[in-house]
Amino acid sequence: MSQKIIIVGAGLTGSLLSIFLARRGFNVEIYERRADMRTANISAGKSINLALSVRGIHALKQVGLDAAILKHAIPMLGRMIHLENGETSLQPYGKNENEYINSVSRKDLNVVLMNEAEKFPNVTFHFNMRCTGMNLQTGEATFFNELTQTNHSVIGDTVIGSDGSASAIRMEFLKSGFFNFSQQYENYGYKELTIPASENKGFRIEKNALHIWPRGSYMMIALPNEDGDFTCTLFMPFKDGNKNLAQLKTIGNVTEFFNEVFADAVPNMPTLLDDFFANPTGNLLTVKCFPWHINDKAILLGDAAHAVVPFFGQGMNCCFEDCYNFDLLVEKHGNNWLTIFEEFGKLRKENTDAIADLAVENFVEMRDLVANPTFMLKKKADVLLEEKFPEYFISKYAMVTFHRLPYAVAKQRGQIQDKILMELCSKITTIEELNLENAISKIKDEFRRNGIEEKIQLND
Ligand SMILES: Cc1cc2nc3c(=O)[nH]c(=O)nc-3n(C[C@H](O)[C@H](O)[C@H](O)COP(=O)(O)OP(=O)(O)OC[C@H]3O[C@@H](n4cnc5c(N)ncnc54)[C@H](O)[C@@H]3O)c2cc1C
Repeated sequence: MSQKIIIVGAGLTGSLLSIFLARRGFNVEIYERRADMRTANISAGKSINLALSVRGIHALKQVGLDAAILKHAIPMLGRMIHLENGETSLQPYGKNENEYINSVSRKDLNVVLMNEAEKFPNVTFHFNMRCTGMNLQTGEATFFNELTQTNHSVIGDTVIGSDGSASAIRMEFLKSGFFNFSQQYENYGYKELTIPASENKGFRIEKNALHIWPRGSYMMIALPNEDGDFTCTLFMPFKDGNKNLAQLKTIGNVTEFFNEVFADAVPNMPTLLDDFFANPTGNLLTVKCFPWHINDKAILLGDAAHAVVPFFGQGMNCCFEDCYNFDLLVEKHGNNWLTIFEEFGKLRKENTDAIADLAVENFVEMRDLVANPTFMLKKKADVLLEEKFPEYFISKYAMVTFHRLPYAVAKQRGQIQDKILMELCSKITTIEELNLENAISKIKDEFRRNGIEEKIQLND
């Protein structure tokens, strides 16, 4: 297998994929636009930390890196809800303490992946190399070296575009004709802020939780970091609604807004104003496109093929699942790229579409529903039903986060379950009033009506 594979983008997807492919004996060359984050003082991009869950962990395990990553992760056992009146409550993520998600540093994760990839003699990283395009007929990719300001080109047996949501490789697909593409921006932006560690490096708020300040049309969240600080993210409409980012122009505006709506967080945010005005405002978008490949010369993988909004904490997990599935196909078909690419698209497209839709839906849940009494009852119903009828019922959140059954199945089953349970819970005031047998039988009826197997087929 002396074939040469060009990977464009050494982010989370490209770096993990390079390990999988190196293990199969391919010569892998990775070209990355940015400087090497291991030596240059650059941000790892996007969010500082990420929620890692079962799908991502499973893929990391295949390359022997799960333990190394989890060693530095902080378990988040549930959502800590901060109401406007200062009351807090923990909503556990799972049915027991074994079901939790992990806060990991994006940079540390990327570095571990790059270090592991570089252990293989058949992997080479090229940094400061911005892809400017490729010839989809010949497999020749072109790069601009940001340091030397020179152009380069390289020919691979195949090219993998893992260059993120604004992929340069995808631009070539767009020019090629037969290619469907949509990108949907949310009317929301996000801004990263900080709750620093306390003086003795302690956590100022509960360490083992993902904190949410739900405020209806907007919200702030906070994920813990190993050093005792939290990365907070404010998600807010750019200009719509009563409260929006356009209103937060001056020190006075920002101070007044935070004191009014995030009063319990403000004393823990001594750098709030500096962070707010120094940090850029990020965009949120969903990318859907297909086919993901052009003959056997190029394929898109990771966010380049299917960027999703971050509200299910699944973007990276989904990309890692891509890498695992891609590797299984390489195992099956060797270097028959066309077959691999075709099967990969068939296998993954409906699932990446499903998680894209679930992620958009989950925004409403996070910013609004978590503080809603019916929703809180439904969460309790989820736990009770899963305990009592484990063969038939797993909550939507758990199917997506703690199991590896296809996202499309999780979406289909989850939406039916949620609709029925929200309806039943809207008629009661305590969970004891819920007739569990009645609930599961309604759910099973609806599964049958929709041609869905009553029993869950887990593949973990
Ligand atoms: C605010 C936010 C929070 C998130 N939180 C979570 C979370 O909690 N859990 C989760 O699972 N996911 C989360 N995600 C999603 C996750 O960040 C992405 O799914 C993941 O980073 C995708 O990895 P990637 O390697 O495909 O793309 P990217 O991470 O975008 O990496 C692409 C790489 O390609 C490089 N590149 C770009 N253009 C070029 C070019 N022309 N030439 C060469 N190189 C290029 C970039 O520099 C980068 O290194 C979040 C996303 C956001 C925006």
